[in-house]
Amino acid sequence: KLIVFEGTEGCGKTTQLARSRQWLSNSRWLPALQKRGVIKDLILTREPGGTTLGTTIRQLLLNPASEAIHDRAELLLYAADRAQHVEGFLRPHLAANDLILCDRYTDSTIAYQGYGRGLDFTLIGHLNQIATQGLQSDLTLWLDLDVETGLARMQQRGKGDSQGSSPIGDSQGSSPIGDSQGSSPIGDRIEQADVDFHRRVRHGFAHLAQTEPQRFVRVDASGSELQVAERIEIVLSESLSQ
Ligand code: C5P
Ligand code: MG
Repeated sequence: KLIVFEGTEGCGKTTQLARSRQWLSNSRWLPALQKRGVIKDLILTREPGGTTLGTTIRQLLLNPASEAIHDRAELLLYAADRAQHVEGFLRPHLAANDLILCDRYTDSTIAYQGYGRGLDFTLIGHLNQIATQGLQSDLTLWLDLDVETGLARMQQRGKGDSQGSSPIGDSQGSSPIGDSQGSSPIGDRIEQADVDFHRRVRHGFAHLAQTEPQRFVRVDASGSELQVAERIEIVLSESLSQ
């Protein structure tokens, strides 16, 4: 199974991914499914950056060297990262019956590059298809948080990727590379253009939740870490019992 976590900046998906791994490992779910032979291992990964090539692409995307990355070039880099991730990581693990928890996937491209940047949805659909060859998530959890709260959280933690890289980097043995030189779009104060951009992205996720309610499930990401974790556990339990 491929279970994806999505959401706008500061929604807590990396934190919740790590929590979900803990919970699955310690609860009755994973041992029971492993015993029945339904699942072999529990694997965490992310996009961009789930492979060695992807780690380099992630650095290019998040720390552009000198010139701004054009929207279409950005789109293609995300697609290249995804193609490598699907072929080199996701498909082999799914073939081995692993349960994969993935930080972002195709829906991020629709939300960020489509709704956020305004790139053509047909083009994005084609590129997602080329990159995935049809591999869809079985379940996507959208951690929905209002944009201001999320951006404020990012600002507080300085947009280091420290939380993001360790749990996932460790699981696949590649050296976790933080994005600490961070090209954060958020400076000392939050720019209105960023707020507007992330509002469009959130609207995109909301639209996906409306059009694909079975696969793309909204989880309220407000409140405490523990509260959000409990909401996620309910959705995961339901999905894993099917
Ligand atoms: O998942 P994470 O928050 O680490 O994502 C890294 C950055 O990449 C975020 O700032 C996100 O806004 C951006 N991103 C993007 N388009 C995507 C996926 C991620 O702009 N398709
Ligand atoms: Mg993160």
